[in-house]
Amino acid sequence: MTDAAAGAPEAPTGGEWAAAVAAVRQLPADARVLLICHVNPDGDALGSMLGFGLGLRRLGVRQLQATFPGPPEVPEPFRWLPGLDLLVPQDAAYPDPELVICFDVASESRLGDLVDRLGSAGAALVLDHHASNTRFGGINLVDPHAAATSVVAEGLLDRLGVPLDAEIAACLYVALSTDTGSFRFEATTPAVHEMAARLLATGIRPGEISQRIFDTRPFGAVRLFGEAIGRARLEPGAAGGRGLVWTYATLDDLARHDQPPYVLEALIDSVRCTAEADVSCVVKQVAAGEWAVSLRSKGAVDVSRVAVALGGGGHRFAAGFTGRGSADEVVDRIRAELDGALLAG
Ligand code: 5GP
Ligand code: MN
Repeated sequence: MTDAAAGAPEAPTGGEWAAAVAAVRQLPADARVLLICHVNPDGDALGSMLGFGLGLRRLGVRQLQATFPGPPEVPEPFRWLPGLDLLVPQDAAYPDPELVICFDVASESRLGDLVDRLGSAGAALVLDHHASNTRFGGINLVDPHAAATSVVAEGLLDRLGVPLDAEIAACLYVALSTDTGSFRFEATTPAVHEMAARLLATGIRPGEISQRIFDTRPFGAVRLFGEAIGRARLEPGAAGGRGLVWTYATLDDLARHDQPPYVLEALIDSVRCTAEADVSCVVKQVAAGEWAVSLRSKGAVDVSRVAVALGGGGHRFAAGFTGRGSADEVVDRIRAELDGALLAG
C-alpha cells in the first residue's frame, strides 16, 4: 500500500504508544507545550495539529501554542477551524518548551526555522504517516499505513482518554477528508470510514465542511486556474509511455489575479484528471528561480522516488519538492527521473 517494502517503518509499537502517552501524562501542570506542523500547512497538517491541541486543552494543558514555519497566514478555506486561537507566529513560539509535538512533518527540513526547537525542547514527539519519515523525534509515532496524520492523532487522543467532541472532530475530519481526497484515494480503508463515522457522530456537518475546504474559491482563482490549465502540456511519451501532463503558475500570474499562493494548491486536482497521462505535475513559483512542485500518479509511477531524487519527499502517488531554475528546467529534471520510477506491472 505504501513504501513499506523499501524499509519504511511499520505502525507504531505498543512501546512507542506507551512512551507518547507517558510524555503527555507526565507533563508538570505548568509545562509549556509547542505544536508544530509543516511549512505551507494543508488540511491534514492544520487539522491534526489543532484537533490534538484542543484535546490537550481538555486534558488541562494551559500553556499551549501551535505554529508553523513561514508567514503566519492560514489559508482561507481553513480560517474557521476550531482551535485557531492556539496559533502564534513562529517568532512568538516558546523558545524552549517542555514538549514539542510535530504533525505531518516528514523530515526536519519541513520545519524551517523552527527546527531549533527539536534541540531546545525537553522532549520531541513526532506524529506522522509519511513512509519517508526520518524519525527525527525522541518518540516517533509514524504509521505509513495511516491515511492521514489525523488517524495517528486520534489514536493518541483515544489512548489519553480524551473523548471526541464536535470541535476536535471538525479538525480531524478536515484532515482525514483532505488527505483521502474526500474518501476517494486508495488509502480509504474500512478503518478510515469507521473513523469518519466516529467523527460524524459528534454532529459535525460534512456538507458544510466539504463546501468550505474543497468547493469554494475566489473568482480570481477560477480565472487563474483557467489560464494555467489552458497552457497545460501533454507528453504521451513520458514516463515510459504512461504519459505526463504538466503546467505552471508564476508569481506574476498570482499578482495579476490578486490571489495568494495557497490557491494554487488545488490546481493539481484540475490537471491530474487528464486521461492520457499517468503522471501530473504543477510547478508553482515561490520566488525568482524557485518553484514548489506537486506531483501525482495514478499508479504506474512512484512519484515519491522522483521527489526524493530531486530533494523532496511525500507519498507514492502524491509527492513534491522545491525546484530551482526555470519551470522548463525543473520539468526537464522530472522527465529524466520518471522512467526510473516506473512501478512493475
Ligand atoms: P502537495 O503536492 O500537496 O504539496 O504535496 C504532496 C505530498 O508531497 C505531501 O505529502 C507533502 O508532504 C509532500 N511534499 C510536497 N512538497 C514537499 C517538499 O518540498 N519536501 C518534502 N519532503 N515533501 C514534500
Ligand atoms: Mn498528511
